[in-house]
Amino acid sequence: MPVEENDSDARMPYQLPFPAEALPEIVIPDAVPRDERIWVPQAENVWFRPLCLNRSQGYWMNLLKVRKSGVLSRHRHPQAVHGWVLKGRWHYLEHDWVAEEGGYVYEPPGETHTLVVPEGVEEMITYFQVNGVMLYVDPYGKTMGFEDVFTKIDLCRKHYEAVGLGADYVDQFIR
Ligand code: FE
Repeated sequence: MPVEENDSDARMPYQLPFPAEALPEIVIPDAVPRDERIWVPQAENVWFRPLCLNRSQGYWMNLLKVRKSGVLSRHRHPQAVHGWVLKGRWHYLEHDWVAEEGGYVYEPPGETHTLVVPEGVEEMITYFQVNGVMLYVDPYGKTMGFEDVFTKIDLCRKHYEAVGLGADYVDQFIR
């Protein structure tokens, strides 16, 4: 039931303790970071910024940043992906639509697509929730490699160690 406006309890915080086993929340004021070191390189001119690396449920939320045009990768998603374009635009060779700045995209399980950033886009940033695994494939579906929340965590640890933030900098994003 929605709270009535004249309900005297309406502005009272929840009075009971949270479940003892509940994990702490994650709050990131500068989701698009000012410190460039927070962007983790994953290929030439391609970076990701971890927000929630959910190893207990096997998904990751991150910003993907690309500063080049052309093909990024071809991959299969066994599970759903949600994307929200914050800057620039991109498209897939397999679809005739373009994901534009401000736009939302749902990628259903079973998608295999080839991500392209078109000419003229200096920087693309997209918020992605990726569930499970990304399988990198050839044009006929043969698996060439994969990423999951664990490979993402490993990349973060190595990078944050190398740039002086410390390998444990990534821990704040892990649940
Ligand atoms: Fe994808």
